[in-house]
Amino acid sequence: MPQITGGCLCGQLRYAANTEPVFSAVCHCKTCQKQSGTAFNIVIAVPQPAVSIQGSPRTYTRTGDSGQQVVNRFCPDCGSTVVIEPAALPGTTIIPAGTLDDTSWLKPTIEIYCDDAQSWVQLGGGGMQRFPKMHHARG
Ligand SMILES: [Zn+2]
Ligand SMILES: [Zn+2]
Repeated sequence: MPQITGGCLCGQLRYAANTEPVFSAVCHCKTCQKQSGTAFNIVIAVPQPAVSIQGSPRTYTRTGDSGQQVVNRFCPDCGSTVVIEPAALPGTTIIPAGTLDDTSWLKPTIEIYCDDAQSWVQLGGGGMQRFPKMHHARG
């Protein structure tokens, strides 16, 4: 598959990752709702070493539901978050899929944090596995 590329709304921040996604997910969590301003986010997970960022991101760090820190890298000019690094997923970078240049290959296979999903959201098509929280819950 081609290299994964994308960027923020204004184009100041760009990223590239020469890799395949570890997973592609629809995330219904409250943070994704706040961050995206809509009902859910679509995210891909990629190996962190494969990701390179061009431009000058700002960072926002919060504590995730794992109790560990989550670092968001976003554009100071337009506000788009392009990269999320959860300490709970070491070595993994999360990319909000709406920032991708090309989404034609994208096909989320799981829905996570379904406990927080807005009540009207019913994603059709079938085949997506639904998880109440994170899918790899190890306690
Ligand atoms: Zn921007
Ligand atoms: Zn989320």
